[in-house]
Formats: sequence, structure tokens, C-alpha cells
Amino acid sequence: MEEMIYMAEKAGFAGAALVDTKDIPFEPGFLVCCEENLCGKYGVNYACPPDCGTPQQMAERIRAHRHALVLQTLWEIDDPMDNLKVKPAKGAHNRMERALIDRFQEKWPGGFMVGASGCNVCETCAITEGKPCRFPALKFSCMSAYCVFVRKLAERCGLEYDCGPGLVALFGMYVFD
Ligand code: SF4
Repeated sequence: MEEMIYMAEKAGFAGAALVDTKDIPFEPGFLVCCEENLCGKYGVNYACPPDCGTPQQMAERIRAHRHALVLQTLWEIDDPMDNLKVKPAKGAHNRMERALIDRFQEKWPGGFMVGASGCNVCETCAITEGKPCRFPALKFSCMSAYCVFVRKLAERCGLEYDCGPGLVALFGMYVFD
């Protein structure tokens, strides 16, 4: 497991920590944040609520595996509500995760990715055309869709959530056995 953390740090992640999935805090009430639809993916993406499943189903999906590697990136952004800057940072975080998890899956197969934002594998999700997901193996939901209480999780893992003025921390996970 130390090797995973080493690989994550080498890949440019600011922090990485292993947790047992039974210790991941969930808050089903966070669903309202998705319903506010600030990201624009609510109801138009298979990986986002309500189509991804209920908060309970999402938590069960994670708890069906034993471990998670929490992955943190840091970005020089003054205002965490500045979507023009945060959105591309989330996209970059997800690409970093995808590349690292592709390597993880050679050694620790059977796991899945939880991103910093909802699935953006396709420019427009197939759900908007009433068609099945085009890349089910690559589809990923975000920490919010799983209703993970990210601040608590970060504290539990010894990773900083509030990194001070001018810095925004983003989080994702590789969930595996
Ligand atoms: S892979 Fe494409 S079709 Fe499938 S959930 Fe992601 S964006 Fe939608």
C-alpha cells in the first residue's frame, strides 16, 4: 500500500492516504448540493444524481470494497466559488486520477475511480440522447454524488481540507480490495 502512495506522489498528487471504506464518512443530506445543480450535471449525466442511484446505494457501492486511496491535488485559486477556475482544475484532477488509476488497475485490479467532479468522458453524456452509457468501464461519479463528507474524510486521513488563502484542495479516490 505504501507503493500506491509513492506512485500518487510521483504522479503529482499533493497528498494521498489509505482508509478502510468503513471509516469513510457519508452525509446523505449533501444530496441537496447536487440538486442545486451548480455544476450543471444534475439529471443530465448517468454518473450524477438522480440517475447514479440514491445516497444509500452509492455508499453501499463504496462499502462493497475494503479500501480507498484518497487523492488530493492543490490548485492556486483565490476564490473556491470561482467556477471559471475551479472547473478546469477539477477536469485536470480527474485526468491525473484516470492516468494513475489505469496504472493501479494493472497491479490492484477490480477497483473504481471516484472523481473530483462528475463524469466528463464524453462531451455530452449519452443520457441526454436516451442512449446507454458509451464507456461504462470509464464512467465515474464524484465525491459529491457519493455524498462523501470530504472535510471529515480529509481530517481522518491527515490531509488538509482548508489549505489557506489562494489554495483550493480537490479530492478523489480509488476504491479497491
Ligand atoms: S462515459 Fe459518457 S455516456 Fe457514460 S456517464 Fe460518462 S459522460 Fe455519460
